Amino acid sequence: MQLPLETEALVVHAPGADFEMTPIVIQDLRPDEILVNMKYSGVCHTDFWLQQGALGPLMKFPAIAGHEGAGIVRAIGSEVKDKSLQVGDCVLLSFSACGECSYCRDDQFSRCTDFPSLNLTGIRRSDGTTPAKLADGRPVRSQFFGQSSFSRISAVHEHCVVKCPYPEDMAIYSPMGCGYQTGAGTILNIMKPKADQTVAVFGAGSVGFAAIMTAATVPARHIIAIDIVEQKLALAKELGATHTINSAKIQGSVVNEINKVTGGNGVDFAIDTTGVASVIEKMLDCLAYGGTAASVGAPPRGDNISVNVGAFFAGKKTWISVAEGDSHPPEFIPKLIDLHKQGKFPVEKISKVYPVADLKKAISDMKDGTVIKPILEF
Ligand SMILES: [Zn+2]
Ligand SMILES: [Zn+2]
Repeated sequence: MQLPLETEALVVHAPGADFEMTPIVIQDLRPDEILVNMKYSGVCHTDFWLQQGALGPLMKFPAIAGHEGAGIVRAIGSEVKDKSLQVGDCVLLSFSACGECSYCRDDQFSRCTDFPSLNLTGIRRSDGTTPAKLADGRPVRSQFFGQSSFSRISAVHEHCVVKCPYPEDMAIYSPMGCGYQTGAGTILNIMKPKADQTVAVFGAGSVGFAAIMTAATVPARHIIAIDIVEQKLALAKELGATHTINSAKIQGSVVNEINKVTGGNGVDFAIDTTGVASVIEKMLDCLAYGGTAASVGAPPRGDNISVNVGAFFAGKKTWISVAEGDSHPPEFIPKLIDLHKQGKFPVEKISKVYPVADLKKAISDMKDGTVIKPILEF
């Protein structure tokens, strides 16, 4: 493997600037890294955070986004622990973790105490360098979530890599490492609803759909999808939602509508994928006695909500935050692939592949609800 290596990536040159296909040079491959020829990458809202500068001081520019990569192994660092991994293997990429803290040692990568610095800065933890530079020699942040998958080739951290035995399904599986495991893991790893229980999902994006589809595998008694785009709600009903609520169209409150469905009891489980403070308040208000609410969409720092603490206490309610579905990707992603193979997690119905040159179209289709999960092909 000859390094440095010239390639191209969608570089964001400054906060708020467009993603721009730009020549880059991969400088070197560390012993704990894997060089991946990227074939596909899902597009997730966190990529827009990076692009808009919303990660604040964590992220510097120029930077490469992308954290739902899928590709083919091109070279393997000398100390990579998974000795079964070979050049030519198909891999799905997920988030990075330190591998050393008490959570990581317990195979709970999503709780890694170093999660923000490892995933949101795009630099190596060991020495703050970046694997890639621009042609003029300036470093470019190129390990976003350990992978920066909006690149034709990327040097990724070994903890991101999950082998995929189905190269033919690499495109539709690429979002497993973030959006899909976040929604599915919240249901299967944390909430574990029983057949007589009820679930409400606020926001019908890819995370919400993954939650709806996995709740339908139980199947939970009521699965209520809440969104403001009619087209997405219609698809949610097709893929497992028993009820849908268009919160932009109803008279009165979402909580009232949920109470109508549940006979006034509220829901046993509620998930907020939006991160919007007013939606989180509704999520807490719609819980049944003993119910659990999970925030999985990150709210802006500094936002506050109002909670009736007396009712919350008396109702024995729980509110938790969940990152990446509390999943350990090397174990959980293969489980999701199995579910898909059984026809119980039909991710092909919510995604669409776009050539990377059509990125703008992919983004506008995602924003207006035409497609739930755009996947870029490199
Ligand atoms: Zn850790
Ligand atoms: Zn994501």
